[in-house]
Amino acid sequence: MERFYCFSKDKFLDFFKALESFGTVQAPVRVTDQSFAFRAVKEPKEIAFEALRTILPPKKFFYPGRETLVSWQGNEVKDHQPEIQKQVLFGVHPCDLAGLGIMDTIFSAEPQDNHYLLRREATIVVGLSCMPDKHCFCKSMGTDTPDSSAYDIFLTDIGEEYFIEIKTPRAYALFENDQLLLKPITEEHREKYKDFWLKRSEAFQIGFASDNLRATMDMEWDNPVWEELGNRCLSCGNCVPVCPTCYCFDVIDVASLHEDGGERIREWDACQFTGFAKVAGDFNFRPGPVDRLKFWYRHKLHGFEDPHGMPTCVGCGRCTVSCPSGIDDIVGTVLRLQAKVEEEPKKGPANDK
Ligand code: SF4
Ligand code: SF4
Repeated sequence: MERFYCFSKDKFLDFFKALESFGTVQAPVRVTDQSFAFRAVKEPKEIAFEALRTILPPKKFFYPGRETLVSWQGNEVKDHQPEIQKQVLFGVHPCDLAGLGIMDTIFSAEPQDNHYLLRREATIVVGLSCMPDKHCFCKSMGTDTPDSSAYDIFLTDIGEEYFIEIKTPRAYALFENDQLLLKPITEEHREKYKDFWLKRSEAFQIGFASDNLRATMDMEWDNPVWEELGNRCLSCGNCVPVCPTCYCFDVIDVASLHEDGGERIREWDACQFTGFAKVAGDFNFRPGPVDRLKFWYRHKLHGFEDPHGMPTCVGCGRCTVSCPSGIDDIVGTVLRLQAKVEEEPKKGPANDK
């Protein structure tokens, strides 16, 4: 089979049925006037094709907010393996595909997280093109081009039709029984496809130059911006679960009061919570919101030196829209920090001559 095809939007029901033959289709649905969530859908009319950012990113399907790892009864210990159900994740935009690519790197590094990897393996991911709104800045983070390691199928909206890239053998297999659905692409399709991505690239309303991002985060560690923003932070932790690449968790043992048993549970944690960096002896490495906010920003924009050495922000804008204090304006913050970096050389020795 070829890699690129097109199909008419009139035939979307047939496309949907092909996806359903693999497993439950999870897609963005509208939950309020202004918010969307990935939910199981039974027919295409339930899908909110206009959705940009869902409340929670796709990570929830592979790395649930809470899960039992081990349980015990008396001396008997049971290792819990996840119940795996085949599913199709439809409508994942380029920022979230980049987020999935980062989570794949994190969870497949040794020691591998088999709960994550089993769920990931049982899921076909269908990417979907989008147009940025006033909060999107994936272009600045270099994640505006779909991460081909993260999807099986990618759809680009070219008007009356979708331009479709089919990347994996299991995705090809979905269409073997419907030879009439996918049509060969023509030169006109190629032109429309290129036009779409060019227009999209020009449609970004916010952003920053990212080539000096690491240097900015290194040099501006003591910038007064952090004090100002941190003092307005409520430590609510909202910005963490909504982030497609925040992966920290806590492990808690919950013993039964009545029986000789219990469970070991893993649940999402947030580095913005007061107790996140508290250790034995009640010492807290990041006691105040300023410390925690700086740490979070550094992880997102600078990345850890080890093990992966990469920024983990994909520019989705979820933290911006979900912060009750209006301080997770990453673009605004970076522009302020960069302005400081640009000012600094003027004070340096080379300019004192
Ligand atoms: S830091 Fe904010 S904008 Fe960046 S990926 Fe996370 S939620 Fe999205
Ligand atoms: S969402 Fe805003 S207020 Fe809440 S922890 Fe994050 S930065 Fe602080």
